[in-house]
Amino acid sequence: MQLKNLKLLNFRNYDNLYLEFNPNINLFIGKNGQGKTNIVESVYMMSFSKSFRTNKDKELIKFDKENMYVGGNFTNSHSEGLIEIFLVKNKKGIKLNKLSIHKVQDLLGNLNIVIFSPEDLKLVKDSPRERRSFIDKEISQIMPVYYSYLVNYNKILYQRNKLLKNSNIDTSLLDVYDESLANCGSYICLIRKNFIKKIYCICNKIHKNLTGDSENLEIFYKTQIEIVDEDTRETIYQKLLDKLSSSRQNDIKFKMTRYGIHKDDIAIYINNIDAKMYGSQGQQRMVSISLKLSEIEIIKSESGEYPILILDDVFSELDENRQRLLINNLKDVQMFITTAENSHKDIFNKNNTTIFNIENGKVIKVENNTS
Ligand code: ATP
Ligand code: MG
Repeated sequence: MQLKNLKLLNFRNYDNLYLEFNPNINLFIGKNGQGKTNIVESVYMMSFSKSFRTNKDKELIKFDKENMYVGGNFTNSHSEGLIEIFLVKNKKGIKLNKLSIHKVQDLLGNLNIVIFSPEDLKLVKDSPRERRSFIDKEISQIMPVYYSYLVNYNKILYQRNKLLKNSNIDTSLLDVYDESLANCGSYICLIRKNFIKKIYCICNKIHKNLTGDSENLEIFYKTQIEIVDEDTRETIYQKLLDKLSSSRQNDIKFKMTRYGIHKDDIAIYINNIDAKMYGSQGQQRMVSISLKLSEIEIIKSESGEYPILILDDVFSELDENRQRLLINNLKDVQMFITTAENSHKDIFNKNNTTIFNIENGKVIKVENNTS
């Protein structure tokens, strides 16, 4: 999977930019605030049609402009084409090969992207929301239908919570919401259960590799209903429905849906010890790296090809040994790497790396003199 080029018009601090990419490593070097993350943000948009750092599309438009455009040609094992995303007079448009796409799900899967930024190193330490979002993004890429379950679930959850805030509650409407939530939630729960099992196996292997066999990593699905291996979509539906019904009086009291898959989390153990509570900072970071690397392997095993990897500013957070490990482990992956440190270029091989210098929204391709 590969992004061949990129065209930006009025995107963030870029007026009009066209870049051609290396099929292997693209290294963006520049001082703080020059536009490195802006570039990889636009690359990321080719996959999800939205930014990884804002939900407000308007922020992507260059100050004082009204419209913006991001477009790029991609290739993957089954197709090649052009993805375009634009905002015109506050209206967002997505096109695949010049044809409009109305649902994000129809874009997903053309260009899979895994992004790794310094915040990801806190994945283990962070709140359940971040870990849920990590799981959700991963699954959505390999199973676009999962994304529609999530969107539906969140819509129903929003409506149920709104209803719970009323002084007079229509319980028959609450019944309808409960059934829809349990229904949608049961699909999400089952997919998460299977996915976490898979990531546990892959991640454990990667982590053993990275820690020289000294750490046994375990990952478990944490959900508010009791799930067993034998559970099916139907039994999960019943369990979720029972939970909603038994907590209804409390939900009414607290004006909030307090149980459901929107509270799910993953539990992470290193050598039988809870990594979130007792792991050292270094151990937690290492687990986060293993999780990210397993994301790449899972996408490869599901789709048959490696996703694109974006490393935004993570290099300075890793020691040289880990930097090399990361790069050398991923030889067949197209990468977009940003760094503020010029010396980082020394660990790359000129045969497979293109270096871009970035200064105040201007990008210059430079000769790579490293060997
Ligand atoms: P760092 O090394 O600190 O991460 P960076 O090179 O990654 O820096 P970016 O986040 O890519 O920096 O770019 C930040 C610059 O982009 C800032 O100077 C900011 O003012 C500018 N910028 C952000 N959004 C817009 C916008 N909508 N229009 C114009 N400029 C913008
Ligand atoms: Mg940045």
